[in-house]
Amino acid sequence: MTVRDVLNEGSGRLNEADIETARLDSSLLLCHCLKMTREKLYASFPDEVPGEALNMFRKLIGMRLDHHPVAYLTGSKEFFGLPFRVEEGVLCPRPDTELLVETALSLTEADHSLKDVLDLCTGTGCIAVSLKNTDPTLNVSASDISSVAEKVFSINNCTLADGSIKFTKSSLFEKIEGTFDIIVTNPPYLTTGETDERMDEGWKEPALALDGGEDGLDLIRMIIGAAPGYLNEGGYLLIEAHPAQMESMKVCMERAGFEDIVVLKDLPGLDRVIRGRKGPVDV
Ligand code: GLN
Repeated sequence: MTVRDVLNEGSGRLNEADIETARLDSSLLLCHCLKMTREKLYASFPDEVPGEALNMFRKLIGMRLDHHPVAYLTGSKEFFGLPFRVEEGVLCPRPDTELLVETALSLTEADHSLKDVLDLCTGTGCIAVSLKNTDPTLNVSASDISSVAEKVFSINNCTLADGSIKFTKSSLFEKIEGTFDIIVTNPPYLTTGETDERMDEGWKEPALALDGGEDGLDLIRMIIGAAPGYLNEGGYLLIEAHPAQMESMKVCMERAGFEDIVVLKDLPGLDRVIRGRKGPVDV
């Protein structure tokens, strides 16, 4: 079978299972099996696919049909233009989260005194590593409660940020020391109901990275409450969440003393990131 035939077979099977990104997924998996880029794949349409690669591809398509994310099957995912290592047990980086990186960079570009950044619940490290990779003058720290995240983070830290990011294994702020100019976080923010639904559907990502409690805001409330203690005066807190959660988060941030609260939209136009600034400390 040719590359074109194999690609079509894969996308056809994924399409039948209503996987929206059937064609993309099929091409990413085939690239992985043939160890080639997507450009090379399209240029190789008439070539024969070796039997071993075909067997591997069919096995991976089967796993994709069983809800394994493509990033777990290929072991990598592109985020902010960088190739991140991804393994089962961590959240796969999502394009929506690039908004957090862009928002943090727009702050550090506008004010060069903002240097110390903490990425809480870092997972693969996609936010922390993208920040450090883009602006090596930043002092970036990262933390996560999960041991798998610690391991995957350290791979990405080494390959994409020269191992320069300090990692602390910590439940939210528990083991964090010092204060920062920017705290950025993509914490678990699905409701327990939504998380359970995904698990019932066979979702393979860890509930630990998704489940934010009854209304999805359990961890976010803790983060907002504690963040002022870890921010320098005038420092920023940036949180990703679901568009429907922004209003409650705004109220919560106002109560915690945050000022200049702004909600930012992701590429599809959805409210995705909230940003607040720590006001002057009362004396
Ligand atoms: N945006 C993710 C999703 O909908 C959730 C990520 C998270 O909880 N941090 O799958």
